[in-house]
Amino acid sequence: MKMLTLLGSTGSVGRQTLDVVRHSEGRLKIYALAAAKSVELMEEQARLFRPAKVVMMDEAAARELRGRLRDLPIKIEQGMDGIINAVIEPQVDIVVTALSGRIGLEPTLAALENGKTIALANKETLVAGGELVMATARKMQCPILPVDSEHSAIFQCLEENPETIEKIILTASGGPFFGWPREKLAGVTLQEALNHPNWDMGAKITIDSATMMNKGLEVIEAHHLFNMDYDDIEVLIHPQSVIHSMVEYRDGSVLAQLGRPDMRLPIQYALSYPTRWKNPFERLDLRGKTLTFHEPDLVAFPALALAYRVGRRGGTLPAVMNAANEIAVSAFLHKKVSYLGIMEIVEKVCSEHQVLDNLDLGNILDADNWARGRAAELVAKFDARSSMHEPRA
Ligand code: MG
Repeated sequence: MKMLTLLGSTGSVGRQTLDVVRHSEGRLKIYALAAAKSVELMEEQARLFRPAKVVMMDEAAARELRGRLRDLPIKIEQGMDGIINAVIEPQVDIVVTALSGRIGLEPTLAALENGKTIALANKETLVAGGELVMATARKMQCPILPVDSEHSAIFQCLEENPETIEKIILTASGGPFFGWPREKLAGVTLQEALNHPNWDMGAKITIDSATMMNKGLEVIEAHHLFNMDYDDIEVLIHPQSVIHSMVEYRDGSVLAQLGRPDMRLPIQYALSYPTRWKNPFERLDLRGKTLTFHEPDLVAFPALALAYRVGRRGGTLPAVMNAANEIAVSAFLHKKVSYLGIMEIVEKVCSEHQVLDNLDLGNILDADNWARGRAAELVAKFDARSSMHEPRA
């Protein structure tokens, strides 16, 4: 039996992780659940899974939950301290990091420093602090098992000898605007951007998929997880999302992992690893399916090219790109910037940053904070410009 702390239990991956736990026939058990502020859903999850501990990031949410769960012997904590306490407990075997954004960095480091296995569903953590996180994992000999579907696919296609890998091929659906020229993208609405063709996900990652920043973040994530040069990571558009990614070996053989667009499979693989468990989830049916592949359009979707540049430069720059993107996406979700404004802001913040190469948690968080502040200023200017509220040609 493996004991889990699940960070981000009320989000999309968090809810699907609990579904995997429910189908695990007692092989997985929840020690602690943590979320930002969704009190109602957290109460429901706590009653169903009976964890020892529940953490709400938001103080008022924690207070309300204490009232609602008075009848159960569940300890309720709050804030980042509460989250850290929930990951470092000796009973915990695996920490599932399904938080959205850089907020996952500190608990991930704390978990690794305390010898926990990480099931990583929080790519922003590796983008912001990849070198530090991977060095800590190596030092503590803790596995980081990918939950992101592409990285799970690569992980499943890896053979014994990593030196025989020539490149990894990350597939991308292309998002809702695949095939659109840049001019047409100026008129994109929030509703259109939230409408992903294949995957049902949280709002932040759905917008990242619409700008293709998601794939850019995944390139950096793959660089750290699999210790691959950026030159050996290729992105291929595959609109059907049947092949989740591929590995090409030096003899030209390509291994691919296929599946339905259902996150429960990569989640379960990270939690069942090194074995595979039977489950009742719907199976892939390839009959009648056509699989197609295309080169990504870096002019229409500059996020991907930016992420390669930023990843290659390294230092504090990936943390800055990620932070600016978190702010710009949030502003887009609140209709304060246009779709094209997201990348305009991220590119500007990146270009202004004085990169530091000496990476510790302090200067990663300083760079992250600076980028958030600068991006927020650019959002405010963008809002004042108001032209974005007019219909575009
Ligand atoms: Mg992915």
